[in-house]
Amino acid sequence: MIGYKNVMEEIVIALVTMSINGPDYQTFCKCEKCKNDIIALSLNNLPSHYITSEEGRKMVYEKLNTPENRKWINKRIITAIHVVGKYPKHD
Ligand SMILES: [Zn+2]
Repeated sequence: MIGYKNVMEEIVIALVTMSINGPDYQTFCKCEKCKNDIIALSLNNLPSHYITSEEGRKMVYEKLNTPENRKWINKRIITAIHVVGKYPKHD
């Protein structure tokens, strides 16, 4: 049972995890709070793509997960990483 799901969210989580663990962002905080803030901020600046079935998920995932699409999605993620890095909401 899949209910409904935003495929963009799935893609953003994967790309954010990859980016913050990559060599470009070694100096950035990787705590759960910062990671969640980066994901939320990125998703606020990206269109949502909701699906209600596994076939739909596969179709939209393949459509979104192309090199050109990953490029502009990553652009928003990089912006979010820098905003959160500059203004972390730590306790
Ligand atoms: Zn942090």
